[in-house]
Amino acid sequence: MENAYVNNNYNDDILIVRNLKKYYPLSKISIGKKRSYVKAVDDVSFSIKRGTTMGLVGESGCGKTTVGRTILRLHDVTDGQVIFDGMDLAKIPPRKLRKLRPQMQMIFQDPYSSLSPRLPIGEIIGEAVKEHNIVPKSEYRSYILKVMHDCGLQPHYYYRYPHEFSGGQRQRISIARAVALKPKFIICDEPLSALDVSIQAQIINLMKDLQEQYGYTYLFISHDLSVVEYLSDTIGVMYLGSMVEMGEKKQIFDNPMHPYTKALLSAVPVSDPDVKMNRIILKGDIPSPVNPPSGCKFRTRCPYATKVCAEVAPKLKEYESGHKVACHLYSQD
Ligand code: SF4
Repeated sequence: MENAYVNNNYNDDILIVRNLKKYYPLSKISIGKKRSYVKAVDDVSFSIKRGTTMGLVGESGCGKTTVGRTILRLHDVTDGQVIFDGMDLAKIPPRKLRKLRPQMQMIFQDPYSSLSPRLPIGEIIGEAVKEHNIVPKSEYRSYILKVMHDCGLQPHYYYRYPHEFSGGQRQRISIARAVALKPKFIICDEPLSALDVSIQAQIINLMKDLQEQYGYTYLFISHDLSVVEYLSDTIGVMYLGSMVEMGEKKQIFDNPMHPYTKALLSAVPVSDPDVKMNRIILKGDIPSPVNPPSGCKFRTRCPYATKVCAEVAPKLKEYESGHKVACHLYSQD
């Protein structure tokens, strides 16, 4: 087995994703034709600094959830590298990867379906704590109660079952289950989209408080740019399996460069009634990831598309420190 440690600046970056690809083969093959693939994630690279939050945005079906699941190896990687805390996950022996699992957790969109209906809350939160020996047996119960307290759950919920709770409380339970494992990195996959707006604010604040207290690093996957703006330090914008723009939050919100990012931001509601919204309406549907457009994948919906956009795929290039864009409107040299 090759050495899994990578010589990188991993003290700074807890996660480095390089040229990640996840293709799903289609089951039907026509005679004489090559097998087709759904290119759910197509050559995506980014990194996240310790203790920060990266927001990953894009319309549904753009591949952002697949990025999250592939990083955690819930899906096999087709190609590319995922380096977590200085270790190349593809080169880690299965036993060691199992030991590493508690450090990388995921919070799901639908808290109800991700919680076992047959277990009381204390056991749901503590099941993996026992399995991975996170705390000595003698401290187990007090530890679970502390985690519940941190997540705003009353001690007497310990013996209750998921169906007795509201959506917001269930999401608190999901968060408690993840943080009980003392993770370093948490992928939050649309954790607010099943909740009422008033409850969303409570969960956002809980996530912020926990991050401040324990220094978690988040990858926050969402289609809601207002939430992403509030929570994130950096933002990546995905379209049809590819990263089209990424940068610091301020760079993306104050100076969006890619036409797709501009369209997404134009739809974010503003609180000031005097500010006129100039919403950019994109024409057409997202093309199929089985047969994406040639050149720039966004060209079939882009108001600025020219001939070169159909011929050459634009490279993701850095235009100011940390701000990268893939578009022919800017110099590709
Ligand atoms: Fe639009 Fe061309 Fe830029 Fe793609 S490369 S976003 S089609 S201008």
